[in-house]
Amino acid sequence: MTDYLVTIGLEVHAQILTSSKMFCGCSADYADAAPNTHVCPTCLGLPGALPVINRRAIEHAISTGLALGSRIQHDTIISRKNYFYADLPSGYQRSQYDDPLCVGGWVELDDASGPRRIGLTRVHIEEDTGKLIHGDDGASYVDFNRAGVPLMEIVSEPQIASPDEARRYFQKLRQILVWIGVSTGDMERGALRCDANISLRPAGQREFGAKVEIKNMNSFRALERALQYEIERQTAVLRAGMRVRQETRGWDEARGVTDAQRTKEGSADYRYFPDPDIPPLRVDDTVIAECSARLPELPDARRARFAAIAGVSAMDAETLAADRGRADYFEATAAACEASGATPRDAAVWITGELLRLLNDTGEDLASAARRLPPTAIAELVQLLGSGAITRTTAKEVFELAFRSGAAPRVIVEERGLAVIGAGDVLARLAREALAGNPKAVAEYRGGKLTAIKFLIGQVMKATKGQASPQAVQAALEAELQRLDA
Ligand SMILES: [Zn+2]
Repeated sequence: MTDYLVTIGLEVHAQILTSSKMFCGCSADYADAAPNTHVCPTCLGLPGALPVINRRAIEHAISTGLALGSRIQHDTIISRKNYFYADLPSGYQRSQYDDPLCVGGWVELDDASGPRRIGLTRVHIEEDTGKLIHGDDGASYVDFNRAGVPLMEIVSEPQIASPDEARRYFQKLRQILVWIGVSTGDMERGALRCDANISLRPAGQREFGAKVEIKNMNSFRALERALQYEIERQTAVLRAGMRVRQETRGWDEARGVTDAQRTKEGSADYRYFPDPDIPPLRVDDTVIAECSARLPELPDARRARFAAIAGVSAMDAETLAADRGRADYFEATAAACEASGATPRDAAVWITGELLRLLNDTGEDLASAARRLPPTAIAELVQLLGSGAITRTTAKEVFELAFRSGAAPRVIVEERGLAVIGAGDVLARLAREALAGNPKAVAEYRGGKLTAIKFLIGQVMKATKGQASPQAVQAALEAELQRLDA
């Protein structure tokens, strides 16, 4: 049987996070607004309305290009992409064709064999379209709140070799866009969308096979499943000796299949031409330098820095640098721990362990939980544990109480009497009770079976609810046994 090589390219559309739309002053924060309340003559495409470019949108696109290693073009043009559809009031979409804002660049993935770069063709800016709503009454309605919202299209080279790699590429890209603050990355609300091109060719053949475009994948999982389905479908077509049709297909999540939508138009069908209402856009070096200066340390660099911390594993570093909020929280906690004599590793252990477990259980996000559990609270807990004031078992309990209530660990320990029960009256009393209540174990111990003391230690530990150290308990038991002998 012939083997086929899979070639995938992704086109990711990301709404650019700005307060107003791409070419008018309407608010771009339309998610919860009533239909057609964020509109004006410009974004409704009315004759005579003149567009003005949103500077912030351009800066965000430049920052994206810089974060992805693209070359920023100094001279760029906004073109009209002409087509008719009910959600496009002007009959054309403002986009870029010959002169995209950013050219080249890459997204780096971690493969088992090392880092692998997926090349980018371009990053260009455009405007979003309106939205059709199909009512229960059988009618279709159109909402123009989304029309004119700034978008970036990030186009990869056809260098992705598998559905798994496509998903990881998309996840990494989303991480970067959210990290640098240019997109919400909210896929449920459609702020981040992805189309895929996929073709198969027999191993050994140089030219690509027929390209099929897949649309309507609304999650990482959907992208992976749709591509997997397409590989199986196209393989079956080719093995049957037929030709794969170049077309656009839609992913049907419920049925788990792709359906043919239309045969693909060539770009000539859009009759692109420079928008006569918008002068050529000139980006000077100052703007690029400003965007570059504002760019935060990127996820890969941060992860590498975390992995270099003593006691922090590569996997923990990846977890801690998964998003910028978490990375910031870890660094603040690590600094607070160091200030109180503990190590950054302690911060990593509590965050990757207990904190993420509790966030997962409660479904809360870190930003909101951090208002109750600031980095200094974790440092305080680590210090209580390190100084021997509480046991490890108690520390976990205090952590959860602090997480849920927002009370300081020190206060929780005092108010609830959770401090270690040291070698004192309480432990002596509990040891006496254990000896009195377990004459058999005492007799065995006295008869030379030294391991019997382990059982007695266990009894006392249980009575202290883990608030005493086993060493202190053993010392108390031995003291009481000697006292009885005397
Ligand atoms: Zn408007």
